[in-house]
Amino acid sequence: MMWEVFKHAQEQAPNESCGLVVGTEKNKKYIPCENLQKEKKGFKIDPLTFTRYQLTSNVLYIVHSHYEEDCKPSQHDINNCNEIGIPYMIVSYPDQETYILKPNEQKSNTIR
Ligand SMILES: [Zn+2]
Repeated sequence: MMWEVFKHAQEQAPNESCGLVVGTEKNKKYIPCENLQKEKKGFKIDPLTFTRYQLTSNVLYIVHSHYEEDCKPSQHDINNCNEIGIPYMIVSYPDQETYILKPNEQKSNTIR
C-alpha cells in the first residue's frame, strides 16, 4: 500500500498530497484525496469526502506529504491531529520516509 502513498506524493509534488488510509491494520487501503488547499504548503481534504469515509469505513490514518522536507509534523499538524483525534501518517518526498503522529490521548478523549 505504501507505494501508492508515495506515488501520489510524487504526482502532487511540489504541492502536498493528501488522502486517507481505511480498513484494518491487516487490510489497509489508500484513498487518494484532492488537496483543496491552494497554497503550496499544507493540505485540506474535502470535508464531505472525509465524512463519507468516516461513516462508511474505518479511517486508520489521515495521510499527507511533505515535499523536500523531512516527515516530522509541524505544530499545525500536531494541533489538527489532536483536534480530529485520528492518527496522521506523514510521508516525505523525495526522501520517502514515514512518520506516524498519534493524537494526544487526553484531548481526543475529551472530544468523545
Ligand atoms: Zn504537514
